[in-house]
Amino acid sequence: MIYLDYQATTPVAPEAAEAMRPWVEAQFANPHSPSRWGREAAAAIEVARGQVERAIGLEGGSLAFTASATEAINWALKGTLEKAPQGRSRIVTVASEHAAVLDTCDWLEGRGCDVTRLAVGRDGLIDLADVEAVLDDRVAMVAVMLVNNEIGVIQPVGEVARLAREAGAVMLCDAVQALGRVAIPEGADLVAVSAHKIHGPKGIAALWMREGAEPAPLLHGGGQERGLRSGTMAPALCAGFGAAARLAAVRFEEDAAHVERLWDSALAKLSPGWTVNGSTERRHRGNLSIRREGLDAARLIADLRDVAFSLGSACASGSGRPSHVLRAIGLSDAQARSSIRLGFGRYTSEEELVSAVGRIDAEARAQQGLAA
Ligand code: PLP
Repeated sequence: MIYLDYQATTPVAPEAAEAMRPWVEAQFANPHSPSRWGREAAAAIEVARGQVERAIGLEGGSLAFTASATEAINWALKGTLEKAPQGRSRIVTVASEHAAVLDTCDWLEGRGCDVTRLAVGRDGLIDLADVEAVLDDRVAMVAVMLVNNEIGVIQPVGEVARLAREAGAVMLCDAVQALGRVAIPEGADLVAVSAHKIHGPKGIAALWMREGAEPAPLLHGGGQERGLRSGTMAPALCAGFGAAARLAAVRFEEDAAHVERLWDSALAKLSPGWTVNGSTERRHRGNLSIRREGLDAARLIADLRDVAFSLGSACASGSGRPSHVLRAIGLSDAQARSSIRLGFGRYTSEEELVSAVGRIDAEARAQQGLAA
């Protein structure tokens, strides 16, 4: 199988798998126990915390581990709104955010919050003037992602954070698709990241919090994670995340250069008739979202069973609904349904990518009665 679905999840780095092994096997103690073994497990978690914090690269805060970025985002939004001063019950976000943000905003809206969902242009980007226009002293939180999971475009998060700060609002940045790929700009108060998008294990993620911006807890119980989150922590998952984060930081330039080469090779292999969805300049180049007039993308995916790629996001693929991101950039339902997303990165070879793109291109042309 040729794996081209890096936005859905990434292959686990051998270094991350190796770092997890002792904590899965012999060193199984509860990291919250006072025994020597427990303290060793707790120390491993702290090493991992430092590794992930350094990969995020922001000053003036620290992180708490969570079970997923979905949890981190739920926590950030609900916990911030709960703590918000009287009169600040508004959230400003973007129509093309991940469902973890949008569905949580819907939930909060049902409980009395006001939600403003900013539109994006055809390039997938927000207009800073639109952000400025809606910010005032009623806004508690601004939630804008750095790299879009469906089309890879990079939002101006640093500038948004500056505007949010001027308005006295807390800024949440979903950096799940950005970590290890695009530097996270200074300014956000809360940053959500996830291990499985950076060659770490599934089931572990984190919320980085600027000192003083910690949201009210979402999970109550033993308060194991610095009194802010409850639940027994998973040393193996933390160690795997830490190792993956360390690698992402060390290999940042190398991975970026590799992805640039892959992007160029993939585009060169496509015949005329394909259009890239969203900005090609302000973009993480490991996300090639493309469409072709009249293409039945679902059929294409079904016909090419040994190449793993997707429609929009993994979530949108399951629902049968056209992607809200593709609709937000102004595509019709038909255009959204004729779009595919190819995601590649560190462990993708140029040879396998070119071979898969060649087959996708030939199959798409055959579907439309064109010669391969
Ligand atoms: N945000 C973005 C941009 C994502 O791509 C994802 C995963 O698809 C998430 C949030 C949710 O992350 P997790 O799988 O850790 O819940």
